[in-house]
Amino acid sequence: TQPLTDLADMVRERAKSRGSSTAYEFEGRVTSFAEFDIKTNKVANALLAMGVKKGDRIAYLGKNSDLYFELLMGAMKAGVVMAPVNWRLAGPEVAFIVGDCKAPVLFVGPEFITQVRQIKDQLPSVRTVITTEGGAPEWQDFTAWRDAQSGDDPKVPIDTKDIAIQLYTSGTTGKPKGAMLSHANFLNLVQTGNAADKPEWNRWSTEDVSLVAMPIFHIGGSGWGVMGLYHGARGVIAREFDPTKVLAFFEQSGITKLFMVPAAMQFVVRQPRARTVDFSRLKYMLYGASPIPAALLKECIEVFKCGFVQMYGMTETTGTIVALPPEDHVEGLERMRSAGKALPGVEIAILDVEGKPLPPREVGEIATRSGSNMAGYWNLPEATASTLRGDGWLRTGDAGYMDEDGYLYIHDRIKDMIISGGENIYPAEVESALCDHPDVAEAAVIGIPDEKWGEAVKAVVVMKPGKQATATDIINFTRERIAGFKTPKSVEFLPALPRNPSGKILRRQLREPYWAGKDRRVN
Ligand code: ATP
Ligand code: MG
Repeated sequence: TQPLTDLADMVRERAKSRGSSTAYEFEGRVTSFAEFDIKTNKVANALLAMGVKKGDRIAYLGKNSDLYFELLMGAMKAGVVMAPVNWRLAGPEVAFIVGDCKAPVLFVGPEFITQVRQIKDQLPSVRTVITTEGGAPEWQDFTAWRDAQSGDDPKVPIDTKDIAIQLYTSGTTGKPKGAMLSHANFLNLVQTGNAADKPEWNRWSTEDVSLVAMPIFHIGGSGWGVMGLYHGARGVIAREFDPTKVLAFFEQSGITKLFMVPAAMQFVVRQPRARTVDFSRLKYMLYGASPIPAALLKECIEVFKCGFVQMYGMTETTGTIVALPPEDHVEGLERMRSAGKALPGVEIAILDVEGKPLPPREVGEIATRSGSNMAGYWNLPEATASTLRGDGWLRTGDAGYMDEDGYLYIHDRIKDMIISGGENIYPAEVESALCDHPDVAEAAVIGIPDEKWGEAVKAVVVMKPGKQATATDIINFTRERIAGFKTPKSVEFLPALPRNPSGKILRRQLREPYWAGKDRRVN
């Protein structure tokens, strides 16, 4: 078969090849690939009938839902670009994103009707609000809006370079940026490597049942969902991440593969019931998006008893570019601490401050080149120019090194690196050592201003319930495991760590009070 050039065609193709099979199910509602093709035609026709034009952005503020995937792929059939909004953001931040993409239409899930009523005046681009479920008397209802249209294919020509989705970055290091991902970007990811040289974990069968457990406003939700549709697998969509429900999905739906971020894995694995659940149908758990403490990974391997694949990537690279396969998840192996090797068709380089490539085992900025690099950031020419420097290489802002065999070791974000007494310290390594302490549930490490050292290493620790190790105990424990200059000089105890919706620790928030009025160097 001819490789696909756009994702709208993928929907048509799957309707032909897998028509009567289930594309996805959501809270008891089941949609076949044939129905999905018709529903997405209706969505495309409805958008075009409203005067939404090819290249326009539309926004979605809602939790995961089957209707979101209809909107996403229906928009693609009209050449319209979906921009899902992180629903954990506050009103003004939501208004910023909707305004940033100049969306004429905003789709709202039932949980956010009140919020949108409150900020409606701050959404000048929005001409129409459509509620996906639940309804509001003053706004249109999604199902009625969609079903008023013909199910015939609008046949809008799509170029492979057209933008398929605009996904905002997680906002870990600053304001979220709209990464424009093209049809080619997505297809590059799923179509590289023919079936024969694809590793088993990256091969899908139509028998696969995939759980969309992460939020669709991140690549780990939307990208994962599109991946399942591409492969003609059955998708199970979780409205939001809930550890008890995830366990129930394993039991009731026979999930064979899923993607989760480490923070989510921790919630699931620490459910007391987790050890009694039957995971025999689960083949692969793919994880990534933030560093995983070694102790957590070990716990997950014991409990889930499936193949584990670590993924490294970012919104700007349409997700995964590097993966650590199951066979390298072996205790005691050095590789177990790496994020893995570049996927077929992906190049990785480690660059020094001047942008020159570094030899193996030297730490520098991770850069990447492949067909999955985004087209650019929406409306941010300067950020685009510093990330994509015209040479095809994308600067990730992450520090790391590569070994002789091409395994990538990620240290941390360059912006979070601590320089203490001239030594570079990467918080993730110190956090992992802290998490080895039996009383520690979670840890974050930051640099605070220090007269003598420039910056001093500080640990922020969340204790397991009922445990009471002291700051001195924890410092002494860490000193035995990592170099003295990396050992925290002080420990603060908190009931919880500030995290963004993808579970990433917001170190900049922990850092802020210490740096008020002072300039922290930007690495
Ligand atoms: P922002 O760019 O807005 O600050 P963000 O970088 O967290 O937010 P994402 O695109 O969701 O937004 O995340 C990509 C980042 O996540 C990577 O640059 C890297 O720092 C981190 N990351 C991804 N995978 C891994 C991994 N396997 N191990 C460690 N860190 C990872
Ligand atoms: Mg980023």
